[in-house]
Amino acid sequence: MRVFIRDNETGEEAEYEDRRMDWNFDDGIGEFMFLEANWSCDCHRHVFHTGIYEDFPCGETRYTITKVIDTNGDIIDNPEKTSKKK
Ligand SMILES: [Zn+2]
Repeated sequence: MRVFIRDNETGEEAEYEDRRMDWNFDDGIGEFMFLEANWSCDCHRHVFHTGIYEDFPCGETRYTITKVIDTNGDIIDNPEKTSKKK
């Protein structure tokens, strides 16, 4: 699936491709990982956004997921607002 992540400080949007899981597969494991579990944190999203593995402060305001294109082609706009979770 492809995850689009915006840096709210610069406005820059970057695409991250995740080949490990689907957003909605098996009751939304990807959704869970990106919105609730580890990858909801700015420190992880920073790595996805920049492609650089480096320390980054934890938080929930710096990066926003603006869109997801799931492996099956489903498009999920603004998942952080429309998700039933979180
Ligand atoms: Zn963190």
